[in-house]
Amino acid sequence: MAEKKTWGIVGGGVLGMTLALRLVQAGHKVTIYEAAEKVGGLTSSWKMDGIVWDKYYHVILMSDLNTRKILQEIGLKNDMQWVETKTGFYSGGKLYSMSNLIEFFKFPPINLIDKFRLGLTIFVASKIKNWQRLENIYVAEWLTKWSGKRVFEKIWLPLLKAKLGENYKNTSAAFIWTTIQRMYAARKSGLKKEMFGYMAGGYEKINQQFEQHLLVLGVTIHRNTKVTAIKKTADEKIELGSEKGTQIFDTVISTLSSQASVAIAGELTAQEKQKHNAIKYLGVICPSVLLKKAISPYYVTNITDGWPPFTGVIEMTALIDKKEVNGKHLVYLPKYVNPDDGLFDKDDAGLRKMFCDALFKMYPQITEEDIVFWGASKARVVFALPTINYSKSIPGIDTSIPNYYIVNSAQIINGTLNVNDTIQVAENKLKEILQTNG
Ligand SMILES: Cc1cc2nc3c(=O)[nH]c(=O)nc-3n(C[C@H](O)[C@H](O)[C@H](O)COP(=O)(O)OP(=O)(O)OC[C@H]3O[C@@H](n4cnc5c(N)ncnc54)[C@H](O)[C@@H]3O)c2cc1C
Repeated sequence: MAEKKTWGIVGGGVLGMTLALRLVQAGHKVTIYEAAEKVGGLTSSWKMDGIVWDKYYHVILMSDLNTRKILQEIGLKNDMQWVETKTGFYSGGKLYSMSNLIEFFKFPPINLIDKFRLGLTIFVASKIKNWQRLENIYVAEWLTKWSGKRVFEKIWLPLLKAKLGENYKNTSAAFIWTTIQRMYAARKSGLKKEMFGYMAGGYEKINQQFEQHLLVLGVTIHRNTKVTAIKKTADEKIELGSEKGTQIFDTVISTLSSQASVAIAGELTAQEKQKHNAIKYLGVICPSVLLKKAISPYYVTNITDGWPPFTGVIEMTALIDKKEVNGKHLVYLPKYVNPDDGLFDKDDAGLRKMFCDALFKMYPQITEEDIVFWGASKARVVFALPTINYSKSIPGIDTSIPNYYIVNSAQIINGTLNVNDTIQVAENKLKEILQTNG
């Protein structure tokens, strides 16, 4: 076993907790600093009308082997629930089911030839292994090449705009590849069945159990403790400054966004700060609406009409047992936006009117009367955009401050932002660090 060293981890989200788990298992002494009152970061939960559930919608796929391994290790494997779900499409003011091949061929907005090209595009993307070559092609160019101009404009463009806004113009084709790969993996065989999973009790249960597991293994966790400064000491250790004082570590790993990781480390060179700050992130506004009635049978409804203010509709209770949310119906209305988007400053009443009016228009059976709870979760910095040649342009994990590393979800280069790929980054990057710094 490696010599016992002291490690500070900045951020108690999935990434930070995974690093802590693997380090403590390797015999190291680990301390996590988490700014919020609970661990879990983007996976953490809040209270809606007395119900505790995830602030942002989360699903676990059967192919999420890293996530499932952690769940097994922390003793939650048997609490996973697997459900066959359906997907909807809202197009031309109508809602369509798009959950199997027959429904795909009945989908009216595009003709048969276009459907064939759309299907071919998805199939081709699912078969590509060498994703690197997609990194230097714009996503719009690649999709137009395979699907044709009509399908691109009718289907792909609205979907890209909904997810990326005008940023789609700078996004590489690796984005659509990773999205299709993940969705394909969720289906047992081709377009036939979509099996999604969730944890009974939601991520609240996972986070509590993960934290408990780490505490039992000897990890120290400081919650409500924001890290404010990282400095090198004369003997190449790291002084970590937080709201609660300073502590010296052999090594510190920041799991914060690239911008936040350099902001706390003033001694980094101007060049490396510039490189980290150049990573472009998207944020999310994600209202949760608790309703008296169901709105559809679909877990995800993709939207190809341009007018709704949200990217898609996630009907969580089409996946989870309604008992989880006291028999109510939970719907998320996510909108992905730039970190400086004006929506972040819109007052709650204005946001509610904007989002709910669109919801009522899409689902006329729902009125204000049906709303039991409304609340909007917001995060300005959520995922790094896979821009052209992304994997070659992102900075490495080591920095000019010896023993200070930056390991964050921006290092997911051939995946989408999800817990499984986040765990993968934590495990792979930690192996690299331990090879030179074990
Ligand atoms: C809308 C939405 C939907 C999603 N859906 C899914 C899904 O269906 N399936 C899936 O697998 N994944 C999903 N994800 C992705 C998943 O939530 C992330 O991959 C994962 O939570 C990222 O974890 P992280 O530790 O990298 O980052 P974070 O969760 O952001 O953790 C960073 C932590 O650092 C803390 N922190 C910040 N500043 C400081 C500081 N100065 N000092 C100390 N601590 C600090 C924060 O409070 C936070 O806890 C979704 C995400 C969003 C936003």
